[in-house]
Amino acid sequence: MTTRLPVVDEHASSIRSDGSRNYVHPADVKGRFTRLRYIIFAALIAIYVLLPFVKIGGHPAVFMDIVNRRFYLFGGVFNAQDFWLMFFLLSGIGLTLVVVTAVKGRLWCGYACPHTVFLEGVFRRIERLIEGPRAQRLRRNAAGLTFDKLWRKTLKHAVYIVIALSLSHVFISYFVSLPSLVDMVQRSPAEHPTAFTWVIVMSAILWFNFAWFREQLCLIICPYGRLQSAMTDRDTMVIGYDYNRGEPRGKASDPSNGDCIDCKRCVVVCPTGIDIRNGLQMECVGCAACVDACDEIMAKIDRPQGLVRYDSLNGLEGKSKRMSRPRLLFYGGIATLWLVGAVFAFAQSSAFEANVLRHEGAPFAVVDGQVRNSVRIHLVNKTSDRQVFLVEPESETGIEYIIPQTRVELDSLGSTYLPILAMLSADEMKPGIKLRLTISMEGHDERKGSRIVEAPFVGPGS
Ligand code: SF4
Ligand code: SF4
Repeated sequence: MTTRLPVVDEHASSIRSDGSRNYVHPADVKGRFTRLRYIIFAALIAIYVLLPFVKIGGHPAVFMDIVNRRFYLFGGVFNAQDFWLMFFLLSGIGLTLVVVTAVKGRLWCGYACPHTVFLEGVFRRIERLIEGPRAQRLRRNAAGLTFDKLWRKTLKHAVYIVIALSLSHVFISYFVSLPSLVDMVQRSPAEHPTAFTWVIVMSAILWFNFAWFREQLCLIICPYGRLQSAMTDRDTMVIGYDYNRGEPRGKASDPSNGDCIDCKRCVVVCPTGIDIRNGLQMECVGCAACVDACDEIMAKIDRPQGLVRYDSLNGLEGKSKRMSRPRLLFYGGIATLWLVGAVFAFAQSSAFEANVLRHEGAPFAVVDGQVRNSVRIHLVNKTSDRQVFLVEPESETGIEYIIPQTRVELDSLGSTYLPILAMLSADEMKPGIKLRLTISMEGHDERKGSRIVEAPFVGPGS
């Protein structure tokens, strides 16, 4: 049976028809999904805040060292030349999000987006603590200015500002080393105006967002909500209202009514202010507050839970669900291509870089019947530890080498230029001849810690 949903007024729930803001004050809710969300929020907040402090291999777990143009990621060290690998990292995250959305809907928005995590896990809880539950907040907001209202609002915003400042410092610590950050905090802002400006601007944005803008970020700015209709279909898991079971809504005592008693509890708990009974809407961030709210009501009136539930649109209409569908096969194909590309790309990245560079000017010289090529090896240690590098010439081509430094020690991401003089009798010159050197890291096996660098040996007629 095809479900006919009621025609509803077509404007965003938190914006009135005249364009003014309809500030949403969601009511508190308890239930299994709310509990699960708070556990996930606590874990994610711990991860976001602790990552710059946790060290792996002597470096922060995640740290983008802008000053030195280095990136540390869970023990791996990357420099500016490795930036192209970020493509695989970012596209991998994007692709995962697309696949998860196609199968499980907006789980990301409801459970893991930093905006949701901090709004629901921190800021709204503080508001509840200082200003009380929804009914009290609404009453106080509607009343005139009283001392009670003034001190509560002042305290709330003071706490918000302290948290916004703390979060901006945590954010900055992903880009500036902790000792530098501690040092900057102790000195006058005039000595580090750029970092200070960043912290102030970021704190102001965070305060504005979490104190006032809130769900408007999801509704107006975030592109993901708008894209979800392109990523989902009728078999994607969403949060929905079982219209066939719930309608006609009305008093539970009337046996001709469905299970919905029209208590509107699912509406008042919604952080974006929508009525899920009107069907799937772009404003739904998949928080499951309405599921917990309705389950609580169903328990009270002794009806089965799940009038509002996680299900697909087909499932809500009593139709059979498909797991395998063209959209998922297509996304699976793209994910496989991505995986092959990523494995290949990361296999190409080596523990060090060694490139042959020529000096400016004449590429060779002929001295006493001998052709000479003077080059430099640019050597970069891309590991997270100090390493010793050994330079050995490959002699089978007949080229002789003068290498002033055959052993060099480099710090993590340290680099140096090694001068090399390669010589060959002019009689032995032939096209395609190359100078070749083996660069190896002391104490590492040949496969991972050794590579041959080569460059054309140039001379008269080559
Ligand atoms: S909470 Fe459940 S019973 Fe109450 S209005 Fe919403 S759907 Fe109907
Ligand atoms: S409709 Fe339900 S799941 Fe969607 S945002 Fe509102 S409360 Fe959360």
